[in-house]
Order: sequence, then structure tokens, then C-alpha cells
Amino acid sequence: MKATDTDRTVPSGPAALESPLQLFGTDDALARLEAALPELQGPERLLGLAHLAWLLRERDPKRSLDNADALTAELNAKLKARPAGSAAILLARMDLVRAEQRYLHADWAAAQPLAEQAMQSFERQGELLGQADAQWLLCALHGAMGQAETRDRCLEQAIALARAAQEPGRLLCFEATQARFDAFRDWPASELRWAAHFPAEIESQPASAQAALYLYQATRAFLASDFARAIRMFMCVHQIALQTGQLYGAITASANVSHSFGKLNDHEASLDWVQRGLELARGCGWPQGLGACLTQMGEALRRLGRLEQAQAALDEAQAILAPLGRSRNYAMLLSCRAELALDRGDNELALRLFDEMPETARESGHVGLLEANRGKAKALAQMGQWPEAETMAEASLQAAIAAGMPDRQIEALQVLAQIRSRGGMDPERHGRDDLPLALLERALEISRSIEGLQPPPELLAALAGEYARMARFPQAYGMAVQASAAREKQHSRLAAERLIAMQLRYAAESARAEAEYHKQLASAEARRSVLLHEQGQTLERLGVIGQAITAKLDAESICLALHEHVHELLDVTALAIFAMDEKGEQLNSIYVSEAGRRLPMRTLRVDDPVASAARCARERHEFTIDRSPEEESPSHVPGTLLSLSGMYAPLMINERVLGVMTIQSPRQHAYGEREQLIFRTLCAYGAIALDNANTYRQLEATLKTLRATQARLEEASLSDPLTGLRNRRFLMQHLDADISISLRRYEDAMRQRPCETPEEADLVFFMVDIDHFKAVNDQHGHAAGDQVLIQVCERLREVSRESDYLVRWGGEEFLMVARLSSRHEAGLIAERIRSAVASQPFVLEQGLSLHKTCSVGFAAFPFFAKAPGRLSWEEVVELADQGLYRAKRAGRNRWVGLAAAEGQTPPPEAELKAWLREPEPALQVGLLRELTGP
Ligand code: GH3
Ligand code: MG
Ligand code: MG
Repeated sequence: MKATDTDRTVPSGPAALESPLQLFGTDDALARLEAALPELQGPERLLGLAHLAWLLRERDPKRSLDNADALTAELNAKLKARPAGSAAILLARMDLVRAEQRYLHADWAAAQPLAEQAMQSFERQGELLGQADAQWLLCALHGAMGQAETRDRCLEQAIALARAAQEPGRLLCFEATQARFDAFRDWPASELRWAAHFPAEIESQPASAQAALYLYQATRAFLASDFARAIRMFMCVHQIALQTGQLYGAITASANVSHSFGKLNDHEASLDWVQRGLELARGCGWPQGLGACLTQMGEALRRLGRLEQAQAALDEAQAILAPLGRSRNYAMLLSCRAELALDRGDNELALRLFDEMPETARESGHVGLLEANRGKAKALAQMGQWPEAETMAEASLQAAIAAGMPDRQIEALQVLAQIRSRGGMDPERHGRDDLPLALLERALEISRSIEGLQPPPELLAALAGEYARMARFPQAYGMAVQASAAREKQHSRLAAERLIAMQLRYAAESARAEAEYHKQLASAEARRSVLLHEQGQTLERLGVIGQAITAKLDAESICLALHEHVHELLDVTALAIFAMDEKGEQLNSIYVSEAGRRLPMRTLRVDDPVASAARCARERHEFTIDRSPEEESPSHVPGTLLSLSGMYAPLMINERVLGVMTIQSPRQHAYGEREQLIFRTLCAYGAIALDNANTYRQLEATLKTLRATQARLEEASLSDPLTGLRNRRFLMQHLDADISISLRRYEDAMRQRPCETPEEADLVFFMVDIDHFKAVNDQHGHAAGDQVLIQVCERLREVSRESDYLVRWGGEEFLMVARLSSRHEAGLIAERIRSAVASQPFVLEQGLSLHKTCSVGFAAFPFFAKAPGRLSWEEVVELADQGLYRAKRAGRNRWVGLAAAEGQTPPPEAELKAWLREPEPALQVGLLRELTGP
């Protein structure tokens, strides 16, 4: 048999373009087209390319898609505006080609919108056949998704369109399909409506309709339990489908032939055919076809008693089909799984699966209810729930009779006989015809009426058993012999060998990683799970990175952190981070690195027409750049690497663009969806961190000014404004530390070297007062007085050490503290102070110069070497003041120091207080010593 076209005459030139384009083209038509294509030109060439993509869509999907893409690109390049007319039709046809590819790969989400888009486009152009084909594809799509109602509506539309277009090939094909759907839904009613509708002679019908017509006839035969005819018809479907480029149809036809052989208990042939289907399905990598074949494989194995292997095949089918929707393939699988559960004695599972069937059947438009009841009856019987089992079995038998399905009747009768035989009879209800034997004989009779059917061994064995029970031994023996022969046949060595061979081949195939199936399905799944895993890890990683980046508070550390993590997660050769200036006019690079080297900073104007970073800042959204090696990059900076992939993203906080980040790679297509996600996330972190850093920087600057102001205020509060010297407050704040050190040194010394006085442990207080200062003010004015004060202060600075404290103690009184020095040097210092003031005149403005002197009183802390804590420093200052007073009294321009007599232990408190007020008595009795000079 060969599918041929009715009107093939001139096999070259434009005539090779089938008009109208057929739904399925024959191999002949394809060959004619390919031969003619080189000669075609202009619009005809485009049409030829479109036809080629269409005819190859299942035969050679890759070539078909390449063709479709090339044609689409060519058309789009020529188009100025929205496509219209023939261009729009060709573009829509190519969309349909792509949609069908997605459908075959069970990518419903991609297929449906493409098909609908093509549909609308055809509609706008008034292209009826295009619309019909789009509806036809949508019909298949909804069927596969388990949406029988929508599926039927689409088919209805397709039929109406084919009829309007008066295209017989499509009309017949679509109607045959509708008839087939009806048959599954309501077999007797469909017979009434369709049985006489189609021409008896299929071979003379349009080639594109032949497979559908055979398929309908095969289905009818199958449902009528005429399995021999069903096999012949399914084989025709298989052949025609192959010749008209319907590979998916050929795959399912193989599975159906196998299934039908199984029904005839010819398991060898059944395995043979399912094997053909599997090979084709694995080659194509289409989930639906593969799932259907695996299901049938499982069924064949089950019938051969290979329950473990059957389970493995069905499990694989389940993994493939379950995610796709409740299609007819899925309904089939469900039924096979349920049968297997029964065979394996897993009655609970069997019941659950049979329960699932009616709903699935409704959604997929498949038979199911009948089978479900029979299966449930068997499960319940196996569980010993006889009454419920019997009710189910009876219902199933009645339904099979009503539906005119002998095959189902045989099954139902067998189950019923088993229930009655084991569970007992109800004499009130049951008559002779209800005896198990009568039921089994009826089943055998029906099975003999079916052409080619070898009675199932279980039926024969059951009959033998019943005859024996009735003591009809000769019949029992005869049946037992037949049963054993049938079983023998079923489990023949041949079948077993074939099975082993198939398994080997299957195992070898599975191992071949390049197999299309593995590429497109298993690996797709694996990729998805790996991706998912990777994505989970990436997300986790990104979380940690986010924390690391946003913890940084200065731009440089943020950039370094971004640099580190970008390299960790992405293929990056160059990284640049730009910050927007305050006016929003310039992008200043804050970090540029390439191949591990830092590059000099550069500046871009935001309105730069060429630079991609500038564009990114202007457009405020991310983009990827892919270049081919030949392409020249307009923004390429000489001396830097030429990148073929680049990603740019704005660093944004709310609506503010803070800058731009970009990564580059010399590899082509380095950045896909995953990379974009990662990059986007890193940019978000970068933006947050840079914004934080900005805020932090501003905060820091403000804090710095604040701190400086505070320091100035603090300084002011501790200084004298006229002379810049420290004031009393300063001394109060700072002296305690020196006092502690001094005390510690004295205490240490007392412990370690009691005879010695420690070095650099004294604080000597010099109280300095200008003599007759009032006279300066009086004679030369207050300003002149100030001048003198300032100059005195300068002279005091000169004679003091850097580390000494110089304090303006009062109006014209100064306190100098020689820190951690030696009291033995005190007289020397006092003299230096005195002489510094007195030795040279003070030069005032207007050429005036004045001679002034000062008096100095001093005392050292600790006052008592043996009892260092006995007098506080304030009390020591009072004693220095007493020294000053004594210097004044002694005639001024001199110094007086007061000290405790050598080895003096301090007097009682009251006496001590009296010394501070008036040291004279103590001086006279020698408790105090006076040092004077000059
Ligand atoms: P004696 O030798 O006893 O110290 O006599 P004296 O005049 O220096 O002492 P007295 O304490 O009577 O006078 C100090 C004067 O110093 C009184 C005050 O007007 C003046 N004086 C205090 N502070 C300032 C200042 O900041 N500027 C000026 N120009 N004069 C000041
Ligand atoms: Mg004074
Ligand atoms: Mg004075």
C-alpha cells in the first residue's frame, strides 16, 4: 500500500508547490518540492521554503525549524511595517510549525500561545486553511492536556473551516477524528452517527486523510472486539502515517497494533510491535509517544507475567506522562497500572487507581467506566468482599453488553464466575444461567466468535476447575489440556528470548547519552533538577554575598567585594562600576578591572551616544549585549579586551540611579537567564551598599565637622582667649592623671628603695604674678596691659618645657606646672621665670617700652615625701601662693619656695590647715623650709 496523490503530474517548477497546501504531504510531494526548490525564485521560493518547513515538521524537526527561522528572518528583514497578505500568512504558517514542535515536545505553555497567535494572524488575513490547521493543532494540544471539551470545540471549528474552504483532505481527516472521539465517548451512539458516513474505499481518498480514516476504522474494530481487523487497520495507519510524515501517528499506531495483538493473546507479536514504536519514539524524543509505548510495553510484559519489568516500564511511563495532563495516553496508563496492581495482589492500590479512572476518562474523552467497574470487582473479590464485588461485576457485565463490546463481556463474565464460585451463590436470586460454569461457558463462546482470538488460559483453567467440581471429568481434562497449551504458548521460549533481546537493546539504548530522548527529555528533566539545585545554592550564596556586600561602608571595599563575588558566580573578564555624579551628567568609574588588573578610572558623559554604560544609565534598565567575533564594537576602548558578551545594569535605589555596573566576557553568549538573575541581584546589593556608603560618607563628614566644632569649643572652654594659655578648668581635668603617676612612683620607691627619692616624680607648681601691673593699665591703658600680658605669656612659654602646663590662673597671675620633674630644680626654674620677665623691656605699640618684673612662689607635690597623699595638689598650690605672697612682701621681683623640712612627717590636720593660711610659725620652728632667690 502506498499513499499517493491524486493530481501529481509535473514534478518540477512552481507546479511542485502543492495547492492548496496539504495537512500532511506525501513523501512524493516532498521529493517533488525538494527537486524544484533550487529553480524557484522570488515569492515562489519563499512559498517553497514555507512548504518545505511544513512538510518536514515531523519528519525532520530540526531542518523544519531551521527553515522556518530562516524564512521568518528573511520576511521580517524585507518588511517595513506590520506584515500583511501573503507574507503574514507565511509567517503565521511558520509560527504553526514552531507551535507543533512545542506540542510534540509537550511544552504546552509555549505551544498554545504560538498556535493561537498563528490562528489570529490567519484570521486577519482570511486564510481559512491556516485557521483550520491552527484549530487542528489546538485540538491535539487540548486533548494532550486532558481538556476533552475544549479539544472537541477546536475540532468542531476545524471541521467548519475545512468545509468552508472546500478542502476534502482536511475535512475527511477532521471528521474521521471526530468520529473516533465520539466512539470512545459513546460507542453505540457513534456507530449510529458515523458508521456509514465515510467512503468504504480509503485508498482513493486524499493522502492526508487516509491515516485518520484507517485510524477511525481501527478504533471501531477494536471497540467491537474485532481485534484481527483492528490490527490490520492500525497497520495501515502506521504505514500511511510514515509515508505522510506523521511520525507521532506512526508511533501510536505501533502501540495500538501491539495492544490489539495482546488482546488476541499473541504476546510475541505484541512485543514486536511495541518495540517498533519504542524505537521510533526514542528517536523522536516526544514525551507523549514515548509514554504511550512504554505503557503498552508494560501491558505486554504484564500479560507475559513479567510483573517486575512491567512495573518498571509503567513507572517510567508514569514519570513521563503524569506531568503532562490527563490525556488519553494517561488514561491508558492508568488502566494498565491498575491491572498490574491487581496482578500483583495490591488490591488497595488497584481500587484507588480504578477509582481514578472515570474522572480521567471524562477529562480525556476515553472509555473507562466499564473497565473501572470490572477491575474494582476483581480487586474486591481478591479482598473477599464478595457482595460488593458481585455488584460491581454485574454492573460491568451489563455495561459491556449494552456497549456491544464482547471483549469486555468476556472479562466481566470471568470475574463474575470467580466471585460466584468462591464467594457462593444466592439461591433466591440466581438460576442455572448464573452458575459459574454457565458464565464461563458463555465467555468461551464469545471468545470463539472473535476472529483470531486465542482463548485466555485463565478462562480455560477456570472452566476445567468448574467441570471438575461438577464431576464432569472428561470435559475438565480436555479444558485443562487446552489451558496448559495456551499457557505454554503464552510463555513460549520464543517470547522469552525476544523479551531478553529487547531488554538488552533497551538497556544499551538507555546508556547512550546522545539518544534524542535523553537529550530532550531525561536530560531536560535532569537539567531542570540540577538547575533547581544550583539555583537553590546560588540563592543561598547570594544571600551570604548580599550580607557581605552591604556590610561594607566605603565605595572601594564595596567594589572589591562585588569584584570578588561576581567572579565567583559568573564568567567575567572585565568589570566596571560607575558612579553617577550629583548633577546626573557624568558617570565616573569608581572601579575598573580587566583580566585581574585594575585599569585607570575614566569618565563618561551620560549623554554619550556610543557608550553602553551611558545608555544603561539613561534607559535605567538592564540589558545584555551579544556580539559575533566579526562585529566591531562602537564603544570598544583600544587596549582593552574585546568582549563578545556584556551585561549592563543600573545601580538603582527606588528611582535614583546611583551608577552602572557592567561585566564583560570575551566568550559569545556568556550570559543567559541564570546569569542575568545573579547579576541583577548583585547589582541590587551593590546599589544598596553604595547608597549606604554615600549616606555613611555624608554622615561621617557631618560628624567630622561636628567633632571639630566640638573640639574647638572644648579647646575654647579650656583656654584663655587673650593669651591662648590653658585655664583652671583644663588643669582640673588633666592633673589627676599626673598626680596618680607621681603618687605611684613615690609609693613604688618607698617599697623598693626607701632611702632614695624617686626621679621625675614631682609636680612643681610655680605661681607667677606681675608686679604692679595695675600701674600699666592705669598709665598706658587696658590694651597696653593686654599687650604686656601676652608678652609675659610668651616669655613664660620660652622658659617652660613642652610638657609643662602653663595656665592663666587669674588676671595677671599665671601658674606653671613642671610635670614629673624634680623639686631640686625648682629654684632654677623660678629664677628663669623671674629673669625672663625682668631681663628685657616689653615693647608696646607707638614705640613704647616698659620694664616689668614678676614675683614667683612655688611648692612641690607631693609635699611630704614620706606621706605623699597627705596634701592634695590644690593645697600645694595654696602653699605656692603663700610663697608668692612672701615674695611680694619681700620686695617683689623674686621667688620664694616652700617645702617641708627634710624627713618631716606631716602634722595633724588642723595644724596643717593653719600652715596653708599662714606658714610663718611653721617656718620659724623649722617645720617648713623657705627657698628664696635670687
Ligand atoms: P602687685 O604687684 O601687688 O601684684 O600689684 P598689682 O597692681 O599687679 O596687683 P593688683 O591685683 O592690685 O592689680 C592687678 C590688676 O590687673 C587689676 C586689673 O585691672 C588688672 N588686670 C587683670 N586682668 C587684666 C587683663 O586681662 N587685662 C588688663 N589690661 N588688665 C588686667
Ligand atoms: Mg595679682
Ligand atoms: Mg600683680
